[in-house]
Amino acid sequence: MNDNSSEKGCSESFISSLPRLKLSDLKDPINDSCSICCCTYADDKYPLISKLPHCGHNFDYECLSIWLSKNKTCPMCRDDITSHKEVIDTSNVELEEDWGMYG
Ligand SMILES: [Zn+2]
Ligand SMILES: [Zn+2]
Repeated sequence: MNDNSSEKGCSESFISSLPRLKLSDLKDPINDSCSICCCTYADDKYPLISKLPHCGHNFDYECLSIWLSKNKTCPMCRDDITSHKEVIDTSNVELEEDWGMYG
C-alpha cells in the first residue's frame, strides 16, 4: 500500500473554483442525482451542486469536495479533471464546447 495521501487529491482552491449549479440550473433535475451518495439533489437557493467542466458530470458540492480531496478524477468517468484545467490550449477550445446539447 502506498499511503501518500497529501499527494493524491486536488487543492481546496481548485475544488472551490469548479462551476456551481442550483437545482434549477440542471437540464433534468428530476432524474439527475449525485453518483457519490446516490441521492437526488436538494432544491436550495444556494448552488450546492458542482459541475466538472470537462466531462459535464455533476455531484453534490460536499460529496465532490470530499472525493476530490483524495482523488483527481471524476467519480463517474474517471476523467483526470486537473489535466484539463492546467493545460489551456486555445487551439482545442472548439472541441470542448456544446457537450450539453443532447436531449
Ligand atoms: Zn452526494
Ligand atoms: Zn465525468
